[in-house]
Amino acid sequence: MFDSNYYRMKFKGLVIWMMAGVTCNLYSQNIDSLISKMTLAEKVGQMAQVDLGVLWEGETCNPKDGKVKLNEDKLRKAITEYKIGSVLNCGCGTGTHSKEEWRQWIGEIQAVAQRSGVLPILYGIDAIHGATYLQHSTLFPQQLGQAATWNPDLVQMGAAVTAYETRASGIPWNFSPVLDVARQPLWSRFFETYGSDPYLCKTMGVAAVQGYQNFSKEIVGTPFNGTQTSGAISSYNVAACLKHFMGYSAPFSGKDRTPAYFTERDLRDVFLPSFEAAIKAGAKSIMVNSGEISGIPVHTSYRLLTEVLRNEIGFTGVVVTDWEDIYKLHANHRVAKDYREAVKMSIMAGIDMSMIPNDFQFIDILISLVKDGEIPESRIDQSVRRILQMKKELGLFLAPMGLPATQFSDAFSARFKQNALETALQSITLLNNEGILPLKSGTKAVVCGPAAHNLSLISGAWTHSWLGRDEALAKNYGLGKTVADACSEFGQGISWLFPEKQNPMSLKSLQVSKSLTKDVKKSDVVVICLGEEPGTEIPGNTESLELDGAQRDYVMKIAAMGKKIVLVCFFNRPLIITDLDSVVQAVVYAYLPSDFGPEALAKTLVGINNPSGKLPFTYPRSSGSVVQHDRKHTEDFHVDFSTNAYRPLYDFGYGLSYTQFSHSPLTLNGEFKGVNDTVWAEWTVTNTGKIDGYEVAQLYFRDEFASITPSVMHLTGFKKVWIPAGKSAVIRLPIIPKMLSFVAEDLKRTTEAGDFSFWTNNPAIQRKKMNTTFKF
Ligand code: BGC
Repeated sequence: MFDSNYYRMKFKGLVIWMMAGVTCNLYSQNIDSLISKMTLAEKVGQMAQVDLGVLWEGETCNPKDGKVKLNEDKLRKAITEYKIGSVLNCGCGTGTHSKEEWRQWIGEIQAVAQRSGVLPILYGIDAIHGATYLQHSTLFPQQLGQAATWNPDLVQMGAAVTAYETRASGIPWNFSPVLDVARQPLWSRFFETYGSDPYLCKTMGVAAVQGYQNFSKEIVGTPFNGTQTSGAISSYNVAACLKHFMGYSAPFSGKDRTPAYFTERDLRDVFLPSFEAAIKAGAKSIMVNSGEISGIPVHTSYRLLTEVLRNEIGFTGVVVTDWEDIYKLHANHRVAKDYREAVKMSIMAGIDMSMIPNDFQFIDILISLVKDGEIPESRIDQSVRRILQMKKELGLFLAPMGLPATQFSDAFSARFKQNALETALQSITLLNNEGILPLKSGTKAVVCGPAAHNLSLISGAWTHSWLGRDEALAKNYGLGKTVADACSEFGQGISWLFPEKQNPMSLKSLQVSKSLTKDVKKSDVVVICLGEEPGTEIPGNTESLELDGAQRDYVMKIAAMGKKIVLVCFFNRPLIITDLDSVVQAVVYAYLPSDFGPEALAKTLVGINNPSGKLPFTYPRSSGSVVQHDRKHTEDFHVDFSTNAYRPLYDFGYGLSYTQFSHSPLTLNGEFKGVNDTVWAEWTVTNTGKIDGYEVAQLYFRDEFASITPSVMHLTGFKKVWIPAGKSAVIRLPIIPKMLSFVAEDLKRTTEAGDFSFWTNNPAIQRKKMNTTFKF
């Protein structure tokens, strides 16, 4: 039975929290008075986070007999004895569970906390592209595919749906979105980002935070819950966690969690803006980069975690470490001679919560550091205040389990899934089309390749398990529809042939079989679906951007049969397809679209969907020539030496449609007289083809001459518009002086006087120049 006396006595005025459904009225606004009544052990416990595997029967990554059952002694140790404040995930990301199971475990955890007089536990999870570890959740394309839609409304909607389903399972905190700007295509987490452009990442990041944290009646269709104080998050939303602050996405070697080297200016121009914008949009928490920047592990950086994040940007939320990263300051980075020194360094740098995650040493060490006077208790209070504030804003003091399960009748609904389908449809990016797509009615088409009959290859990591490699989980708890299934169901008017259906080709067993050869000979077109082994973090590391030999040979052998080929790529990163591109007649880049990818692809192949995705990164022509779109002039085309430093296979922002669009000349209306003035970029986009479609109007600029070598181009605005055939849309995008700024040698953001050029994504249009006379 719930006993409120303990809390009444201990925390006068604090809400007495209860089992789901019953609320009490003793809610206190005053976190400080709460903290003043807590012991040091209680406070340090709040800063500790362990994995669910620490609490179950069996080993941390292996539940006993494969079944998750919480162990009473372990619960007692973690909660009653160590008074932990937070639990995460499920035993090393091992599996996917029903919402009833999640609610039962979290309910048990909260009940032990309540009985032990420990404040409600904050449960956090990686719901990366939908609720990763929840059976039958609505799964969206991975972030890179979401970015390819160039449609922030879809990103916001996806986040709102994910928040709703995550809350349905009793979890209020999501370790998402990834706001790392992807500058290293080898990196195993490339697909987890919103691409390589700071402006695009920033725009999508803000949309995701709004979807996760804010009310979204129009989107999710559920009413805002209860009376909210400022900063509060509804019971249908979750706290976002921006990760991985910052510079994680540019490891020099391309390998995960290895050193990045860049200047303070790069840091501020490229990697910081997405975090800064999402923090300004109200993000409640951030997770720290596990790597180092120029020799300094970010977990030890007072400059980044306190001076920049807190003092400059004004972030007031919770900073959580990444997995085991305090210990790794000693074991991996070797900047701390032992765990104790590592704890001291990271806490003094500004960490609030340690994702320990598998033991309790952190707690013992931190208590002793405070007792020995090496860390002031006021520093602990600061972190605990932030953690309790977030718990309060999430409503955990009122109802640790949130709303009862019955209040989530929209979870997994057809309406939610329609959102995921729409995102997948708008992400599909047509890179090459020599008049072959859409397939004409009556076409005989073979569908083959490793991703044609496989579910894991189209979804990637963070799908029903951490690495997403378990095909059975994807089949049982996802939609279970392969590309081949979807072609049969949605690819109307085509005679489909699936010669590999009986014995689906995996990446490892790939070969051109006799039955495939036979069917190819009978066909008009061959749709080849390539893939990449699902993976993330260190297991997702690769030696090269080259496509593996087996898949390359497979395509080449089929091409030698003389049939037209549509190449479909389901990749984690832009694997080199340059030679394949020249022997096939169409290339469809599908990213990792997850459950609704097959339907989106089938509908695109037959023309029910007019593709509108645009690349959120620059597609390299060769693995040795990785240059970003916002390159420097010296990285550009070198005719004098016949070397082409910048000659990507496909440009950033590129993607074809089944219709054609023309862009009128750009006009710039207005004038900059002061910092707050706006100039409007305006132009008209016309659908000159015969099919209705979406166009992404893109606005670029460059500073012609500047004190720091200027980039050739920067994206500074975009808008996705639906334009019926023969019709036009007027695009109007604001430009303010700050958008033209850069970080100067003195590390101050500045906009210099001089010439700026602006242009749209229509290469035929002349650049429009604007001369500014101000500097600020
Ligand atoms: C990853 C994070 C993730 C965390 C918790 C880490 O290994 O780098 O992105 O949120 O694990 O699962």
